[in-house]
Amino acid sequence: MSNKSICIFCGARSGIRAEWGSFAKDLGAKLGKDGWELIFGGGRWGLMGELAESVQKNGGAVTGIITENLLKVEPLLHNLDEVIVTQTLSERKARMISMANIVLVLPGGLGTLDEFFEVLTLNQLGIVKKSVVIVNIFNYFDNLLKFLDKAVLEGFMLEDHRSSLITCASLEQVLKELNAIRFPEKSS
Ligand code: AMP
Repeated sequence: MSNKSICIFCGARSGIRAEWGSFAKDLGAKLGKDGWELIFGGGRWGLMGELAESVQKNGGAVTGIITENLLKVEPLLHNLDEVIVTQTLSERKARMISMANIVLVLPGGLGTLDEFFEVLTLNQLGIVKKSVVIVNIFNYFDNLLKFLDKAVLEGFMLEDHRSSLITCASLEQVLKELNAIRFPEKSS
């Protein structure tokens, strides 16, 4: 695994604001130019496709991980450096997370939320140890973050688990976090 490997979970739709797509493209361009290897869901649609295509256009390597069933409904992005086909969604998530040193979550729908909670719960159980950055652009995740605060207040979640989640609200903040990351010698 490359040290600069990043897994990004985000929507297979683009959302109604053009700004989300612009953000995904700008982030992809920075990642490509900075030599990151992107691990993502493989699809051509939505923010996923826009981000990954921008990484490709800017010289970054891109690996797509998709299930056999999803391949029939979500077309793959062209010219992927590597395509990994899994049998189940669980296997897909596990591969995506294990292949990256950092996980970023951008706006998305149920699939993205499922993936977000997967990496948080694997971290909580100590099964993996990944930095997780939630990209709260245009306040998309405000209510979700408030809910996590409530889970801590009500005694259902440890403060340590809440505070380990990194929140960014701009591209500059994301890039700052990426620069600050100290990668482990060997990651789980
Ligand atoms: P979404 O955020 O719903 O647009 O989905 C983003 C990606 O996650 C797409 O590739 C979905 O097919 C995928 N996905 C992963 N797990 C799930 C799940 N449990 N439910 C729906 N979509 C999922």
